[in-house]
Amino acid sequence: AKEEKNWINSVIKEEEIEKYMEGGRDFIDDEEIWEKLKQNQNPEPSRIRDILQKSLSIETLLSDETAALLNLKDPELWQEVFDVAAKVKKKVYDNRIVTFAPLYCGNLCVNNCVYCGFRRDNHVIKRRVLTLEEVKREAEVLAGEIGHKRLIVVYGEHPATGVHYIRDTIETIYSVKVKTKNGYGQIRRVNVNAAPMSIDELKMLKEVGIGTYQVFQETYHHDTYAKLHPKGTIKHHYQWRLYCHHRALEAGVDDVALGVLFGLYDWRFEVMGLVYHARELEKRFGIGPHTISFPRLEPAANTPFVQETRYKVSDEDFKKLIAVIRLSVPYTGMILTAREPAHIRREIIASGMITQTDASTKIGIGAYSDRYTEQELERQQFEIGDPRSLDEVIRELAEMGFITSFCTAGYRCGRTGDRIMSLLKTGKEAVFCKLNAVLTFREWLDDFASEQTKEAGEKVIQKELDELKAKVPHKVYNKLIEYYGRIKNGER
Ligand code: SAM
Ligand code: SF4
Repeated sequence: AKEEKNWINSVIKEEEIEKYMEGGRDFIDDEEIWEKLKQNQNPEPSRIRDILQKSLSIETLLSDETAALLNLKDPELWQEVFDVAAKVKKKVYDNRIVTFAPLYCGNLCVNNCVYCGFRRDNHVIKRRVLTLEEVKREAEVLAGEIGHKRLIVVYGEHPATGVHYIRDTIETIYSVKVKTKNGYGQIRRVNVNAAPMSIDELKMLKEVGIGTYQVFQETYHHDTYAKLHPKGTIKHHYQWRLYCHHRALEAGVDDVALGVLFGLYDWRFEVMGLVYHARELEKRFGIGPHTISFPRLEPAANTPFVQETRYKVSDEDFKKLIAVIRLSVPYTGMILTAREPAHIRREIIASGMITQTDASTKIGIGAYSDRYTEQELERQQFEIGDPRSLDEVIRELAEMGFITSFCTAGYRCGRTGDRIMSLLKTGKEAVFCKLNAVLTFREWLDDFASEQTKEAGEKVIQKELDELKAKVPHKVYNKLIEYYGRIKNGER
């Protein structure tokens, strides 16, 4: 316990926060946000349409513009908002979607977040930290049997799963290469969802090839934040968390990701917070968030807060908040997770605003290689809503006309950070990536898909090839067909 206490006291580096604060204040002003929401009530339809046009030109909205969208009442105008949100996604990302799986490595935690199953005082939870051998086994199932190429690794905040452990788990996962019937399985991108870290720690993760560094602010509302993350814990420090993406970018990490846990406070306020955060990163670093997540609170073992909160977000408001985020930060990736039940995921993905989703999701520690089929809340942080397999999800996506891309070449070729930003904003990335989406989807269908999914996937590929033939120069198309043939013949 003494060691743990010493560790807790050494985590927060005030000097790494102060350098970014202005006049001793952070960039979220609760009163200003409420004021903006008040000032932009009853927006004129013509103003809304101007704002929609601005989003379509892939420009980040001003906070007043986001506030106007959030104040909309007219259902017909909301429909226009949804339609333009889908167009924005299509312009930036086309009909591509990427899939990933979460890999929980440990559930020890020194914090006491009232909404989380893993909080320190929750004694019903079975605590466990995977050994590196166990991490390897998890990665082998994910890469070799299911066919994932991207993971998000998740950790509680604890000395046993500190930065050295995180670094070792990332290295272990990248080292896995599993032979499959036609090729091999490998994880190509390891994103990290972990506690805020210092610049030196983030540099260590950069060295081993961290993908996106994802930290959710949970709530941007200062008083609510202080109440839900009790005093005496590391997480109680609002600004240590708020500026962790700044530190990551300063440490050289290319991509950072934002999120809010919806259900802790008023959803309109939180969307404003996200937009302020995105604009702050753009202003300081010329790079906005690589992705934004919008998890809703889910039930967790022995966690009554989830039932008691008065800020639960309805399905209808959930769809609205996703559309407003899509329009406010038009270049960003948007992640919808398996926390949501299948019917909600289906509806929201079909509406065309999402770029990433997880599948074959298990969040119990060691659950992939232990082959747990039922959810077991005592091993999990919360309950997931959609346990469908990657194969099933990809089939459904294909039937909706989406192509699942397993390409991670962009990252390896340096198309990250501010370099990807300009490609995304000009819509160039949409075509560029289509070629690699076709090739990597073909590989995946041959290596991992069921017959039914293969059939649905091949229809999408054919459509894509026809489209590409009309869109790209002959030389490029011929090269694509050559590579496509080689992949079909078993080359990887
Ligand atoms: N411990 C680290 C932290 O808090 O940042 C990272 C991992 S934490 C396990 C990942 C995220 O899960 C949190 O940021 C929070 O938004 C989300 N979460 C916690 N409790 C949840 C619940 N009951 N339902 C849905 N999401 C939850
Ligand atoms: Fe720990 Fe993260 Fe859960 Fe908070 S949300 S109790 S920090 S695992």
